[in-house]
Amino acid sequence: MSTYINDFMSQFQDEAACRQYMFQLRWPNGFCCTRCGHDSASYITTRDLYECVLCKAQISITSNTLLHRTKLPMSYWLFVFYWFTTEQNCSARKLSGLLSIHYRTALRMMHIVREAMRDWNGTATGLLSAPASEEPSSPMTVVHRAVKRLGARARKHMVSKYRRIRYWQRYVDEFIFRKQAGVSSFETVEPMLHRAVSFSSA
Ligand SMILES: [Zn+2]
Repeated sequence: MSTYINDFMSQFQDEAACRQYMFQLRWPNGFCCTRCGHDSASYITTRDLYECVLCKAQISITSNTLLHRTKLPMSYWLFVFYWFTTEQNCSARKLSGLLSIHYRTALRMMHIVREAMRDWNGTATGLLSAPASEEPSSPMTVVHRAVKRLGARARKHMVSKYRRIRYWQRYVDEFIFRKQAGVSSFETVEPMLHRAVSFSSA
């Protein structure tokens, strides 16, 4: 394991610290019930659940997010998000070795990170966010051409990297993310994690 991942993970003492961090990302202004919008809850320690004081709904920090119903430790998720967005040569096989988890579990985790990479536009220099004013007469054509060119390059890159493509769109999302995010750091990982606990799984 690279040292910078150790550096990253050393910010979190234990599983509780990881959960606390994810809680801050999901509810920066404090708990908010997903069913009724009430802002106070009691914490059920044994099950890591929050029970809304008003409507008694039991909510976990991952319910109705990309990490819905996950049974994996939060530290695993933090690690995977950091590792996958900062390393260039990632594979499910490597990940299953690093965390000692089943290959299929690793693959599922990576697909969730790819899901969070979708529609990434972290930087203004991204290909898809080129200002339309450059060619006001036919802005759609410019964007269309750029997407087409990007798609062709992405497919070529992914075929050389993964050989076979089953979840094509997810690999495209990953490719665009890596192109746009550039040198990844904690500043890139945090918005990604924020996406992971903000998105509705519906
Ligand atoms: Zn409620």
